Amino acid sequence: MNNYSSKTLMDMEHKYGAHNYHPLEVVISKAEGIWVEDPEGNRYIDMLSAYSAVNQGHRHPAIIKALKNQADTLTLTSRAFFNDKWPAFAKKLAEVTEKDMILPMNTGAEAVETAIKAMRKWGYKVKGVEQNKAEIIVFEENFHGRTTTIISFSTDPLAKDNYGPYTPGFIVVPYNDAEAVRKAVNENTVGIMVEPIQGEAGVVVPDQGFLKNLRDIATENNILLSVDEVQTGFARTGKMFAFMYDNIIPDIIIMGKALGGGVFPVSAVAANEDILGVFEPGSHGSTFGGNPLGCAVALASIDVILDENLVQKAEEIGKYFRAKLEEMNSDKIKLIRGKGLLIGVVLNESAGKARQYTTALKEKGLLCKETHDWIIRFAPPLVITKDEIDYAMERIREVLG
Ligand SMILES: *Cc1c(COP(=O)(O)O)cnc(C)c1O
Repeated sequence: MNNYSSKTLMDMEHKYGAHNYHPLEVVISKAEGIWVEDPEGNRYIDMLSAYSAVNQGHRHPAIIKALKNQADTLTLTSRAFFNDKWPAFAKKLAEVTEKDMILPMNTGAEAVETAIKAMRKWGYKVKGVEQNKAEIIVFEENFHGRTTTIISFSTDPLAKDNYGPYTPGFIVVPYNDAEAVRKAVNENTVGIMVEPIQGEAGVVVPDQGFLKNLRDIATENNILLSVDEVQTGFARTGKMFAFMYDNIIPDIIIMGKALGGGVFPVSAVAANEDILGVFEPGSHGSTFGGNPLGCAVALASIDVILDENLVQKAEEIGKYFRAKLEEMNSDKIKLIRGKGLLIGVVLNESAGKARQYTTALKEKGLLCKETHDWIIRFAPPLVITKDEIDYAMERIREVLG
């Protein structure tokens, strides 16, 4: 433990850490549930949940217990050997996703890369697409991670510029535009990859039926539909997975973030055997993917979501929170959107940029982050109560009312 002040720590980070982030000026040194604390002892409600990686709340006792027990038993084997935790995790996640098989990785981007590889390989081996011709349809304003292949089809110059040459094979079309997808399909199309709600773009919710249309297009044309549930998955939006709002069955489900319960990076891809079966031994992998520590944590993280009815809670509390935000009738707010406890507040340009408001909210004890210049995202841990929303609303009203 150190006794550095927030100021010293921020200066130290600025000096020694690469500047690829622009954090809000608060240092977190402790956390429990929805609350975080700085070295000076100031307490804040976490309204971001590490971009939805802490759906279960900080240091959930059941998840920490699983972590500690597993740390005392076995942590890493690599996949050169079987271990006694990965099969149990695979079974559990296969049941939750209603898919045949799971492929474990660590970060969300790795799971996205896995889905891309699976779609391409399926395209060549099963669909019969000519080698190196496979195309995957993706959407404007997408966010799927930071690897060189993934940023190759980003439309955000900040994420993409100066990182070329870019990986080919991706066709970018407007989000929420199924007709554009239909037009982009050709004999080389192997898949569509979509966020059911675009989190990083600013909580952009497509029309009801958009995913259903994508499902139909995929089925009609023998192509795979992959949903990136890294941010929206595991109860965040008031369903176990956000694709469930359109009652569809995707071919590939990409998961991460809350799968690790806020303590350990765990990601995974779920699909049926006709798709994940394309991987033969040696064709894909990860040293840490499926490690016992991560699997124990992920198992506990899923159990917490199920045992504590976080799906229902996110739905109810999310509705309550959104209604309260609407009731403010603020002239600073242009639009409130989202599902469950993934909420985007879009500001009027006349109100000025979001950063000044996230800074003011921090001063009042609420931590949230702006996305782009005009949007504030509210995504507290799903264990938040109505009383705590009321407490937060008092402060939000003072800043945005
Ligand atoms: C965060 C995120 C990712 C990337 O996850 P990392 O763990 O940061 O690599 C991918 N897709 C979506 C939708 C995300 O929100």
